[in-house]
Amino acid sequence: MLDRILNFIGIRTIPVSKTADKRERHPGNVAGHFYSTVGCIICGGPAAVAPLLIAHIPDGDGEHCVVIKQPTELLEIQVMIEAMHSSCIDCYRYDGSDVNIIKMISDKGMAHLCDNGSG
Ligand code: SF4
Repeated sequence: MLDRILNFIGIRTIPVSKTADKRERHPGNVAGHFYSTVGCIICGGPAAVAPLLIAHIPDGDGEHCVVIKQPTELLEIQVMIEAMHSSCIDCYRYDGSDVNIIKMISDKGMAHLCDNGSG
């Protein structure tokens, strides 16, 4: 019923199965340790927080945000982690093993978004 209401007012919904594997990297991400996973409800948070690192791209009949530039400097890493935090459905993950970055992510309460543990 909720799906019908959301579709009626123009909000695209995604099947639950599409979000089942939260480590499925969206192919639109540039190579690197930060990535968005497949499945989007167009929350818009990460691209608003980190417009130089994350952007929306066309995806099927909708859109999806992806990493367009991997962070390299501390400030960029901090911005990327803020962007991760802004995703309402935990779309962003970190698959690296830098203990400092894993700690920064964990300190924001997002240890579950680190593929290689919480440091
Ligand atoms: S963070 Fe997730 S739900 Fe939000 S716009 Fe990006 S892909 Fe879509």
